[in-house]
Amino acid sequence: MSQKILITGAAGFIGSHLASHLHALGHEVVGCDIFNARNQFFDVGDAHRLLVQRLRSERLENFFKRHRIEYQAIDISDSNEVERIFNNTKPDVVVHLAAQAGVRHSVKAPKDFVKSNLNGFANVLDACHRFNVRKFLYASSSSVYGARSDAPFLEHDRCDSPESFYAATKMANEMMARAYYAQYKTPSIGMRFFTVYGPWGRPDMAPLLFAQKMKKQQPIQLFGNGVLKRDFTFVGDTVDAVRKLIEIDTSHMGADVVNVGHSNPTEVRQFVEILSECLGIQPHIELAPMQVSDVPMTCASDTKLIEMIGEWPETPLREGLKEMTHWFEQWYRP
Ligand code: NAD
Repeated sequence: MSQKILITGAAGFIGSHLASHLHALGHEVVGCDIFNARNQFFDVGDAHRLLVQRLRSERLENFFKRHRIEYQAIDISDSNEVERIFNNTKPDVVVHLAAQAGVRHSVKAPKDFVKSNLNGFANVLDACHRFNVRKFLYASSSSVYGARSDAPFLEHDRCDSPESFYAATKMANEMMARAYYAQYKTPSIGMRFFTVYGPWGRPDMAPLLFAQKMKKQQPIQLFGNGVLKRDFTFVGDTVDAVRKLIEIDTSHMGADVVNVGHSNPTEVRQFVEILSECLGIQPHIELAPMQVSDVPMTCASDTKLIEMIGEWPETPLREGLKEMTHWFEQWYRP
């Protein structure tokens, strides 16, 4: 059955893929993002900022304009703008992905995260309550699990030792959502994503960051001497899981959280090896100690997700990286 779905963070990596996937399946999609409304608010050097802007603008071109999907530029930290879009859209389902993302950036500039991740989240959550939104799905993160070496990570594990301010904002989101259920019975599911990668990805994350460095013949720093493990998830698999979470009945779940990851972590140095084979470039690797905010491993238990949605695709890392580098080769201009 077709549903009216509002996606925040729609000019972003996961949001743009999700919007076009849901639209292709016949859902009525409205996307929104701060992009175009104001200047971007993080400062990581001009070349990087330009790359991010170009990505967001071309995602809108490729995923929205081409398929005539509705897009509105709004800042979710402005409650009037959130009110306006909920009023105009009257969504059945809200998928809230808009956030200041990036663990490392939150070490440099934690206050950048307050506006979107705390104020913005509160505005969207409150609008879901007031507009009686049937389902509120929002992006949480594997980072809420903190620094652990025991695996896999289970949803009911204790999560009260964040290694970054970013993780703290995601944990706060989960608490806010639970409080809204206790107070108003606003249903919600927090999706704990695990290192999503693929075409049109984020240039601040290892897959694209390393691909750029290899192209420019620059050294790649492997923190934690390359033995950190990440549960990489292909964006197509992530989007498939979100789509299933939208389509199944979750009304009995109250305010809950679920891992969206495959329980299949890979050492970062092995990941770099596969990436370099896909690009056909020999990397220049520099081993470095672990950074503040790094965690040694992420590893999802996907038992709960599978109980909820049934089987979901698991794209092998090599295949996913081939798809990513195929797009990257055509897209990237050093
Ligand atoms: P992204 O940065 O590509 O997308 C986030 C989007 O949110 C951006 O387009 C940005 O412009 C928008 N945004 C930020 N502040 C806003 C505001 N005030 N108003 C409106 N829009 C705003 O990130 P992504 O990788 O697509 O991640 C989507 C969500 O999933 C985020 O909440 C992120 O924290 C979470 N997440 C992602 C990963 C991953 O591996 N990509 C892992 C865990 C969690």
